[in-house]
This record gives sequence, C-alpha cells and structure tokens, in this order.
Amino acid sequence: MIELNIDGQKLQAKDGSTVMEVAMANGIDIPHLCYHPDLPISGGCRMCMVEVEGRPFPTTSCSLLCEEGMDIRTKSDALYESRRDLLDLYVSDHPLDCVICDKAGACDLQKYAYEHNIKETSHEFELSRTLYQDDNPFFIRDHQYCILCSKCVRVCSDVIGANAIEIVGRGFESHVATPFDGPMINSDCVFCGSCVQVCPTAALLPVARLGKGREWELDRVESVCSYCGVGCNVEYAKNKEGEILYVEGTGDNPVNGEMLCTKGRYGWDFVTSPDRLTSPMMRRDVAYKLGITDEAWELPEKSPLKVRRPNLDSSHVAIDWDTALDLVATEFAKAAKQYGGDSLMGLCSARCTNEDNYVFQKFFRASIKTNNIDHCARL
Ligand code: SF4
Ligand code: SF4
Ligand code: SF4
Repeated sequence: MIELNIDGQKLQAKDGSTVMEVAMANGIDIPHLCYHPDLPISGGCRMCMVEVEGRPFPTTSCSLLCEEGMDIRTKSDALYESRRDLLDLYVSDHPLDCVICDKAGACDLQKYAYEHNIKETSHEFELSRTLYQDDNPFFIRDHQYCILCSKCVRVCSDVIGANAIEIVGRGFESHVATPFDGPMINSDCVFCGSCVQVCPTAALLPVARLGKGREWELDRVESVCSYCGVGCNVEYAKNKEGEILYVEGTGDNPVNGEMLCTKGRYGWDFVTSPDRLTSPMMRRDVAYKLGITDEAWELPEKSPLKVRRPNLDSSHVAIDWDTALDLVATEFAKAAKQYGGDSLMGLCSARCTNEDNYVFQKFFRASIKTNNIDHCARL
C-alpha cells in the first residue's frame, strides 16, 4: 500500500491506483467531465487538474499514479481559475439553454458552470456543431450540446465492443459520428443506450423523456430487470403522471454497473401497454363447448395467435382464475394419464420470482413427470 496526502487527509492507496480513484473512494470530489471509472482514461477535459507538491505545473488526476508520500491539493484559487477558464471555453460554443433543457439538474456542465459562476462566455460565441439527428426510436443526438468528452465513443468501443461511433473531423469540424454520418440503424450500433447513460450533457437523450418533466420532478424506483437471468440492477425514472421516461443502470452494483442491453434499457413499454393481459383468456370455441359463452365460434385455419397484432377479444374470452385453473388441472391430468407426462410442456416467465419458477419446474418434473420446461428469457 502507498501512503499519500490529499487535501490534508492521510490516505492509503493500492499500487497502480490513480489520484482520482483514491480521491473518489474517499469522498473527495475532483471536478471532471471526461473521466468515468469504467472507461479508459482520456485526460482530455483538463478539469481534474490537481497540484502536486514539488511539481511546477498542475497535473490531470485521472492519469496521475499515486506515489509514496505525494502531497496533493485538489482545490486552490489557481485551480479554480484554471477550471473557470476551461468552462468559459466550453460554453463559448455551447448554448446555455438550461431553462428549457431536459438534462438540466443532471448535467455535469451545468453543475460546474454553476459552481464556477459561469453565466455566459467571455469569448466570442460561435456554435460549431448544429447537427440534430433523430434517426432511431430510442435516443436523439443533438450535437450543439456535445462537449466532445468522448465518453460515448469509449463506452461503445471499450465496454460494449460495438465501435459504432467515433470522433471525426478536426477543430471546429470535430463531432461524434457514425460511419459517413449515416443513420444509427446503418451503423454497428446495438442500441444498448450506454452512450446516452454516460453522456454528461444533453447531446444524447432518450426520446421518451423529451419534454416530459424536469429531472428534479422525477421519482426514481430501483428494480431488477426481468428480461433474463443476469439480474441487471436498474432504476426507472417516472414523471408526476407515473409515466416511465427512461431507465438507467444504477452504477453501484456488482452485476452490470451502469450498463444495460437494449431490452433492459428500452423494452419497458409493456408496463403500461393497453395490450397487457389482466385475466386468463380462453379460446372461444372451448368456452362455447364448456357453456361459458353462448356465441359459437370456429377456429380459423390460420391460428389467431400467429397474426402480428392479434385482437384477442375476437378469438378469446376472458374468464376468472378459478375456472381457468380447474380446466387446466383437469385437462393436464387427463393428458398425462392418457399420453404420458412428455405430452405436456410448461413455459415459465422471467417476470416471476425465482421461488415461483422453482415451484413451477418442480411441479412439472415431480408431478407431471416431464422435463419439458422452457423459459421466456431465451428471447
Ligand atoms: S446540456 Fe447542460 S449546460 Fe447545456 S443547456 Fe443543457 S443543462 Fe445547460
Ligand atoms: S447505443 Fe450502444 S452500441 Fe449504439 S452507439 Fe451507443 S454505446 Fe454504441
Ligand atoms: S455525445 Fe455526450 S458523451 Fe459523446 S462526446 Fe458528446 S458530450 Fe461526450
């Protein structure tokens, strides 16, 4: 272990750790725009400069390895002024639209501008990027708010492995682009939304949250994604009307950190879908035979369940749980006795608890005597 001093605190650090990592682990907040603990170091934003006793110039703490006996200052008048100068440059081509911006309240640039009393730039304002791309149903890319921190590019290449985007061009022409600036759908993007999660500004925003509520008005509900067995930790952000606006990985869990796949991040519209089933449904011809409905109905040649958007009400009738369970129990027992357990199969759901699924498979294996069991997680 290495001993060093940060802002007067004696701290211990593992060999190979950086000053930023040790500071963060000990609750010392060093301003940063391009640093993310899960991404390779960029050192590009220059906001995390610290003073090291005995060195003539400040150094970026994200790339500074701890050394025995180091004496670090993360705050001083000179550091404040240098960070203020940097922010002054950042906002010289960034519209400070915070009053109408969907990112306000969760934006790192806004936070640091506030902390460094930056209301407007002292330089000549010129917007260098004006591209607005809404070419996919999941997130928009509004380049005027991009500060070229490259977090999106690094998460896409180094964490997700998709390499769908890159910073192209030089100087004022630089911007984050797909190959040939084409639509996202034509790139290697897998729509995991990890770039949106790590973006510090409004340059990348979920479509579903645009204009639907301010950050500080949203309720956040922690949960576990129900799509597959990985068990990613998620946080749903809901507005006052109870609409889910976006989903994020929670960051402080050992399963998925902040990363999610496209299903977990964008596949939650089923929660409020009017197509959700709220009671068991019985096919109309069976219901007619059992006397549950008076209307005769014949099963068409093409199963109604095979059409893309089936209108279940035309082919099925809602029944209560007791009727459904009695029928299933009777028919299962009959089939198992006549044709054996392997004539039946069970399909269970990731949206049930582990305990439910355990009992379900036990029932099929021990009572019905078949291993014909599958699970919706194999989407
Ligand atoms: S991205 Fe941040 S700094 Fe820019 S307008 Fe939105 S809230 Fe303000
Ligand atoms: S959504 Fe995922 S794959 Fe697509 S650009 Fe963003 S990080 Fe890359
Ligand atoms: S889009 Fe966001 S994450 Fe990507 S470079 Fe711009 S500001 Fe950074």
